[in-house]
Amino acid sequence: MLIDTHCHLYHKQFDADMKAVLQRAASAGIKRVYLPAIDTESHERMLELAEKSGVLGITLHPMMGVHPCSVNENYELELAAAEKYLKEHSFCAIGEIGLDFYWDVTYRRQQIEVFERQINLAVEYKLPIVIHSRNSTDACLECVKPYAGKVTGIFHCFSGSYEQAVKVIDLGFYIGIGGVLTYKNSTLGDIIRQTGLSHVVLETDAPYLAPVPYRGKRNEPGYVRCVAEHLANVMNMTTEEVAEITTQNALRIYGE
Ligand SMILES: [Zn+2]
Repeated sequence: MLIDTHCHLYHKQFDADMKAVLQRAASAGIKRVYLPAIDTESHERMLELAEKSGVLGITLHPMMGVHPCSVNENYELELAAAEKYLKEHSFCAIGEIGLDFYWDVTYRRQQIEVFERQINLAVEYKLPIVIHSRNSTDACLECVKPYAGKVTGIFHCFSGSYEQAVKVIDLGFYIGIGGVLTYKNSTLGDIIRQTGLSHVVLETDAPYLAPVPYRGKRNEPGYVRCVAEHLANVMNMTTEEVAEITTQNALRIYGE
């Protein structure tokens, strides 16, 4: 059994062939797919898709949150909407939230505020958080630090150093590993070899960041198996061992 802990399966790119995508995921042994929210543009589409949970034996688990790239002058509206959804539906996590200093730093200050307010929501609702930390691993660690022990979660698509990985783990958080692991110049394999798998979960971030041999194409949840196979090579383990450990880790975070 494999879990895709981070997948934008409600993305328009899956409209045309959702059934085939789910069939391939089922054949690849994927049993759970976790759906990170972005903003009000896609919340409804995500919840509509989540109603298909259980089809082909794959359960779908929506999160709620405001993505850092969706933080602009309207951030209060987005936050209010997210809070309303949280009151009216049940979600597996607050995500994806965090900081993105790669695409745009215009709203840097607001991104930090929105991130902190959503960490507080996670504490209030007793939910884990799923963190987007592009070019901002240290800043995200700083935001999370005061909440150590009160909240846990995943640094999704982890792109930091070994030292930063150790800090993530010391705070009780987990490292989300996807297609980037399979890219030629990635140092992720070396980092995970040193940290071990006790705090690692698998993800695709589909439709983005497809693993080798699909690099450059649309990513999909079934490809989490490619990540597991690659990680097995890195760790000198069987794919089944990697699947077992990372599945247990994901269930520890998100609940059974
Ligand atoms: Zn994402």
